[in-house]
Amino acid sequence: MAMIYCRDCGYKHSDRARACPKCGREEVDLNRSIAIYLVWLWFFGVFGAHRFYAGKIKTGLGILVLFLFGLLSLPVVAIFAHSGADASAMLLVGLGLITFAAACVWVFIDFIVALCSIRHPERIFAKK
Ligand SMILES: [Zn+2]
Repeated sequence: MAMIYCRDCGYKHSDRARACPKCGREEVDLNRSIAIYLVWLWFFGVFGAHRFYAGKIKTGLGILVLFLFGLLSLPVVAIFAHSGADASAMLLVGLGLITFAAACVWVFIDFIVALCSIRHPERIFAKK
């Protein structure tokens, strides 16, 4: 166990602490980079890749499921547009579009939060 100094208040504490015991500043997982996080977010955000990178597996899966459900509902639109839609198919399409939009909005918000956190990576990579 090594001792480190808090970057905010200078208080010396264990490197295993999740946050500074004096001021509460959360320690950063230095194995992760905000730049790599942004690259994952920009190119594969709708698959939740950036959240997997940050170690947030459950919310990463949440984005992935929302996106895939929305994406897989799109062929249903094409099929039922030709064969005459019934109410249940239109419900599925509506749900698909809503989940697709929800995944996109979630990723967009993650992008804004990431840009606002470039100088404060502990907001994204705080130790669990
Ligand atoms: Zn501190």
